[in-house]
Amino acid sequence: MDILTHTLSGVAIGTVVSAFADAGIKQRFSIVLLSGFAAALPDVDAISLWSGFDSTIGTLFNLPHSGSHIYFAKYWYSHHAFLHSAVAAIMFTVLIGIMAYLIDSSLKGFRKMSVAASIQKNRLLLLGSFLSFILHLVEDMPTPASTWGGVDLLWPSGSYIGGTGDIWWWNNYDIFLIVVAVIVINLTLLLLGKVISFDIRKFTVGVFILGFSFAFLQIKTRDFDFAYTGHTAQYDQYEAKSKQIQRELLGDRIYELMERFDKQLKIYF
Ligand SMILES: [Zn+2]
Repeated sequence: MDILTHTLSGVAIGTVVSAFADAGIKQRFSIVLLSGFAAALPDVDAISLWSGFDSTIGTLFNLPHSGSHIYFAKYWYSHHAFLHSAVAAIMFTVLIGIMAYLIDSSLKGFRKMSVAASIQKNRLLLLGSFLSFILHLVEDMPTPASTWGGVDLLWPSGSYIGGTGDIWWWNNYDIFLIVVAVIVINLTLLLLGKVISFDIRKFTVGVFILGFSFAFLQIKTRDFDFAYTGHTAQYDQYEAKSKQIQRELLGDRIYELMERFDKQLKIYF
């Protein structure tokens, strides 16, 4: 799935988790921001496709293979490998916990602060980061198997999960719009919670579950099978088919707006 939808999915999780925070807007904002970052992070492993990879990182680590070979291979640092695993999600969350602990204790002039107290204080930040990281991995599962056969969720087991080909790699505009709707509704609820007294937590969770179910339905009811293993000679046809499906789903006007937005972006979307 594209990096923008991934990132915004994390932001959507952030809007839910931050509804549980009693502290002010600053804490809520950091939860939303960090959740978005966590949801983008797994795709750092796509760096081997960067044109300058071989002459910089490749040379520095004396890697025996080219960046594009690494990307499609199954080394632990290849795409969909370690960084697309539950272990990486846990390690990232622990790292955030350590950083939050260091920041908190430095603010207190390094006076003794218990780890348990720090975890208790930052639990929502950690929860948002972990869930958003995991959501990225789940979102990649319905894309084609390609050379990996899914994502290495249970790394280091090497048993790749997903790769079902329910959706194309990108231009899943309908999913993107559902994610944006969840964010907009939840942000509105968070703002409303400032003026009207009601339990926003239930509503934000409800909106997220509704959005997730709707996106799941969209993914599972594409009228086409995008599944392929290895590389495909029909890549362009698949992409055109994916766009045709979007046009049918969204109607000409919204589709053309989305396509115009897509063309302005420098990333695959
Ligand atoms: Zn990914």
